[in-house]
Amino acid sequence: MFFSRDLSIFNVMEPIVSNIFEDNYVKTGILKCDCQKCQLDIILLALNHVPPHYTSSQAGEAYIKALYMEPQLQSDVLRELTKAAQIIEENPNH
Ligand SMILES: [Zn+2]
Repeated sequence: MFFSRDLSIFNVMEPIVSNIFEDNYVKTGILKCDCQKCQLDIILLALNHVPPHYTSSQAGEAYIKALYMEPQLQSDVLRELTKAAQIIEENPNH
């Protein structure tokens, strides 16, 4: 078994979830605690509940932006981020 990173497999949901989180939670200042730890925990929790969308890292910015603009994807991600934010707010990891 050879686990090579040469394939450049990349889950586009990582930047998409972070961006949606940034725009809807960080910039709006609605988080109870907005420290780096809580922010990361919310993103990780949401990512674990959103189906991954894999692509090659050469896919390019345009492809990611097109996905990001999909209303269905945005609402799925927002729903998971809302749940994750509630859970982390109630049980912050610090
Ligand atoms: Zn915190």
